[in-house]
Amino acid sequence: MGQVYKVELLKDLKEKGTTKMKEIESMKEIVGADNSIVTLYTTGKFVDLCRGPHLDSAKEIGAFKLTKLAGAYWRGKSENPQLQRIYGVCFETQAELDAYLKMMEEAEKRDHRKIGAEQELFFIDDAVGKGLVMWLPNGTIIRNEIEKLALEKEREAGYVRVRTPHMAKEEMYLRSGHLPYYKASMYPPMIMDDGTYYLKAMNCPHHHTIYNHIPHSYRELPLRIAEYGECYRNELSGTLAGLLRVRCLAMNDAHIYCRKDQIKEEFKGVMELTMNYFKIFNLENYWFRLSKWSPEHLEKYVNQPENWSYSENVIREVLQEMKVNFVEADDEAAFYGPKVDVQFKSIVGREETMSTIQLDFAAKERFELKYTDETGQENGEVFVIHRAPLSTHERFTAFLIEHYAGIWPVWLSPVQVMLAQVGEKHAEGSKALAKEMFDVGIRVEVDGSNESIGKKVRNGAKKKIPYIVVVGDKELSGAEPWTVRVRGQEEQLKISKEEFVAKVLAEIRERI
Ligand SMILES: [Zn+2]
Repeated sequence: MGQVYKVELLKDLKEKGTTKMKEIESMKEIVGADNSIVTLYTTGKFVDLCRGPHLDSAKEIGAFKLTKLAGAYWRGKSENPQLQRIYGVCFETQAELDAYLKMMEEAEKRDHRKIGAEQELFFIDDAVGKGLVMWLPNGTIIRNEIEKLALEKEREAGYVRVRTPHMAKEEMYLRSGHLPYYKASMYPPMIMDDGTYYLKAMNCPHHHTIYNHIPHSYRELPLRIAEYGECYRNELSGTLAGLLRVRCLAMNDAHIYCRKDQIKEEFKGVMELTMNYFKIFNLENYWFRLSKWSPEHLEKYVNQPENWSYSENVIREVLQEMKVNFVEADDEAAFYGPKVDVQFKSIVGREETMSTIQLDFAAKERFELKYTDETGQENGEVFVIHRAPLSTHERFTAFLIEHYAGIWPVWLSPVQVMLAQVGEKHAEGSKALAKEMFDVGIRVEVDGSNESIGKKVRNGAKKKIPYIVVVGDKELSGAEPWTVRVRGQEEQLKISKEEFVAKVLAEIRERI
């Protein structure tokens, strides 16, 4: 009675054709002619239209809380009346509800958008466009440090670096298969005087072209080509969310070109590199998922059963030999081969795929990847491993902000040491000290404001700066030891200037 909106929805369904209704215990289902289903739930005397599911009885609700009120236009159209939307959660027990609310509170505190603004890491401006991240100096320091780490580790692991342009011709994407298969995620084409161009959504076709630029002998393989490649994804504006879903992203990308007998060793190398990274960032809550094909869904996969079973077995052997925690999942592979997904449980309880390592046996045919074997014959069996252990820079940074709650380890901190000068007469001395530290590679800032020392120290702590040194007569006279305030610690550090500088440098170098 009086439920105009529900009646409107039902009328719409009726216009589409006949509706069937079926009753399942306390629930009734009306199936529309277009197979849409309407469900009716009954709890005691209360009957309601709802997508469900419903509890059998309200007695099962042990604890609940209404969490949010919001206005919403009927059917999302601003010319329609505005309705009130009430959000709530319920659990079997009060303890479960408390745990959930605590987790939500933690999630809000750690929200990467909130911390990103507080620490001046990045912003997104409508003047530039939605989903396009503007990295501020502090955020750029973090990006440079992470990329520097990647450069070092890739160098140790025998990668070479390349740089490729942000666009390419239509023909290349037809060859790679991105057109038409990936077209929905790519930006509309640009018609130029010499052909049609697209912004790149992935780096692989560019890297394959680099591989093909010169002929290769079996001795040169594996060839590991890496790039922090910027890609563009056509996402609808309504789906964009901070750094988690953006339109321009930087992939910690690389492609390894290897012979069939090298797959295992190379895959293992990538796994080791990935785990090494996570150790450096102190990330522990992850496991691996071997994502396999499904012979029942041939429309989704390259139909080469031998290659599938061979490569799935090789990857399984790697996972077993490395004694890592892994699960297997059918029908989750890429269309060109099986992959290992690194699954994370974030600090706020969300499960997400952080990075993937994919084995590709389709690229060799599409791009005619070849090498000359021991006998001088041309061999087309070049396998490609796509890997992005540090994910996209945007996604990884969002994850790290939440993980650290903005308390960056010293090597990633935009400001590592703050010098709080006591008074105006210490300005020169503080500046000189800062220069000394800056010259040896420490990111240091002087607070030369007119605030009280107590306020300066509190501000530094609020900014989560790892070390704060109050600089007054004593410190400038060369008297030692210094008293250094350490982030998150009650006790202050008594240390000589020389030892302090050495300690900070060691923490930066060793990425403690
Ligand atoms: Zn790739």
